[in-house]
Amino acid sequence: MKALITGITGQDGGYLAERLLADGYAVHGLVHEGDPQVTALLERCPHVAIQVGDLQDSPSLAAAIAASDPDEIYNLAGISSVAFSWEQPVLTADITALGAARLLDEARLLQSRRDRSVRFVQASSAEIFGAASGVQDEATPLAPTSPYGAAKAYAHQLCGLYRSVGVFASSLVLFNHESPRRPPTFVTRKITQTVARIAQGLEEQLVLGNLDARRDWGWAPDYVDAMVRAARAPQADDFVIATGEAHSVRDFALAAFARVGITDGLDRITVDPALVRPGDPPVLVGNAGKARNVLGWTPTVPFEELVGRMVDADLPA
Ligand code: GDP
Repeated sequence: MKALITGITGQDGGYLAERLLADGYAVHGLVHEGDPQVTALLERCPHVAIQVGDLQDSPSLAAAIAASDPDEIYNLAGISSVAFSWEQPVLTADITALGAARLLDEARLLQSRRDRSVRFVQASSAEIFGAASGVQDEATPLAPTSPYGAAKAYAHQLCGLYRSVGVFASSLVLFNHESPRRPPTFVTRKITQTVARIAQGLEEQLVLGNLDARRDWGWAPDYVDAMVRAARAPQADDFVIATGEAHSVRDFALAAFARVGITDGLDRITVDPALVRPGDPPVLVGNAGKARNVLGWTPTVPFEELVGRMVDADLPA
């Protein structure tokens, strides 16, 4: 089997490449010219075949598809930050929304010129639901509140449209998923990195924004497993991928402090009002019941264990 992964140098792309290589796939990764993270990827996964291309450029996608002749296409690339999408809304639309359209259409063309189907998996995001209250599932109305969410919502809906014309395209609505490979721009890794430094006496305080925000944090390799299951499922569909449990930023920080034996964690936290986001949804939590029933998917790493793994990885060996 052959797979093409866009966004292969990101957290999920790396885990997915490792998983598919272990499953015996030929793995091709689309990277843009001069991507500084390719070296690290190839150190970890020397057998990945690199295809240089860009989601903004259809001919480069056609060339990458011709070179890789994929059975499965995983679209993980895109602008990954809500904040950045407000700075660059047009670029966000071009890469995250239209990029998915370009890739889906190349998948359709590929399928029309050969005798086997291609399976397309789109990494969507809980941001398509905006701040919808309650537990979110596949029936939750799309109501994005950022250019990032709007671009992801477009790509999500396009998957459904391509499905209706015979392309196997599944969109996975991924809630927050974390790992030691998360960059520290995300609160989880910021916490575990800083707590590890505090434990070593290198820093005093953990400076955060909204401590009350509650999020549904899962283990990234589990989310990659959901993508693989979706690609291999009998039918394409939309799936929410989440743990179903929400924890506050404060809970995350206290669990990280507890891991290094610091019991007065609350005294080590400072709130910087500049880090509090306007309109930050108080709670985001997903119901992955459909993925459980249809894909046999369940999250395998409970919250405390996830925090512990991330803290341990940030401590010196
Ligand atoms: P996001 O859900 O993809 O935006 O992931 P983040 O990890 O960036 O944010 C998760 C939650 O943590 C949001 O509710 C943030 O407002 C909250 N948060 C609180 N303090 C911080 C901080 O210092 N950095 C970040 N990135 N988020 C913070």
